[in-house]
Amino acid sequence: MIASTPAVQWRPAAFYRTDGDRLRCTLCPHECRLTDGETGYCRVRRRRGFALETATMASAVFHLDAVEKKPFYHYYPGTEVLTTAPPGCTMRCSYCINWKLSQYGRHEQACRRAEPVSAQGLADRAEAAGAAIAFSYSEPVLAAELTLALAALPRPPRVVWKTNGFMTAQAAARLAPHLDAVNIDLKCLDDAAHRRLTGAPVGPVLDTVETFLAAGVWVELSTPLIPGYSADLQAITAIAGQIRSWGSHIPWHLLRFSPDFRMNDHAPTHPDLLRRAVETARAEGLMFVYVERALAEAGRRTHCPRCHAVFLARDIQAARLPLPVGENCRDCGFAIPGRWVSRGAS
Ligand code: SF4
Repeated sequence: MIASTPAVQWRPAAFYRTDGDRLRCTLCPHECRLTDGETGYCRVRRRRGFALETATMASAVFHLDAVEKKPFYHYYPGTEVLTTAPPGCTMRCSYCINWKLSQYGRHEQACRRAEPVSAQGLADRAEAAGAAIAFSYSEPVLAAELTLALAALPRPPRVVWKTNGFMTAQAAARLAPHLDAVNIDLKCLDDAAHRRLTGAPVGPVLDTVETFLAAGVWVELSTPLIPGYSADLQAITAIAGQIRSWGSHIPWHLLRFSPDFRMNDHAPTHPDLLRRAVETARAEGLMFVYVERALAEAGRRTHCPRCHAVFLARDIQAARLPLPVGENCRDCGFAIPGRWVSRGAS
């Protein structure tokens, strides 16, 4: 459901400091230096006097989804999340399939409306649905203040992000304790290519992955196979090697490219390339490599890395029953990394 109720409201923001006669936003590495009344590159943070305001105490959607749809495959399978999309993005990816939500303020056809939310109201809505809260479609980093407000509630909900990971080290350190899980996009490793594709350098994204891993946040990674950027086996090998250096247990989602936004003139990723990309990633040592679409159920299945028994199978949008209880392979007892429903839980 796209929210159709009144427009965004500006609320007090955190993450800024004065810099001479300017005010510098310190939420993402663009570090916009703003004059009074000026809006940042993301279009959802603006200076007013000597304070910063945010337009992201709001959401353009409210979806109740299976957690697998975000995608999270090793995080409480079979549970649901209340998906919200505070407006705006710190990147401007040419291939973005969610550009009508993410490119708020930048494109005349992008969403112009979002429903104001309060942390308590959102938490109540999620609790009534028995769901965690997911920030997705647009860029969750821009909802840093809402995330902190949720964490400050007497009974804070579980919060998960599907994020581009582009934030300052200061912001990552402050937010990590309040996030249960993140799925971070790793679009490509070559910095020049990353800048061309997204308008942002890749280094801060790599730093964010490391910060969240070190903080104990459950981390999964996603890479869209973008023609000219990541849709070849050389790029896949490089990214797989980077992920292996962080941990061969990290689930990696290979996302099929679909023509959209400014990349309408390219074909969707061929299933053969996705299949060879999975084989390449596994040959590089990664234990859990997934393709949601194009390789049928086999692309979504979790196998035990030791005995290769099926640990968990998934349909296109949700885990199949029976769900695993506990983390251990039923056949050999190997502990599958992730957050699983524990034994004895109802
Ligand atoms: S969050 Fe927005 S205003 Fe702040 S530095 Fe990034 S792009 Fe600029």
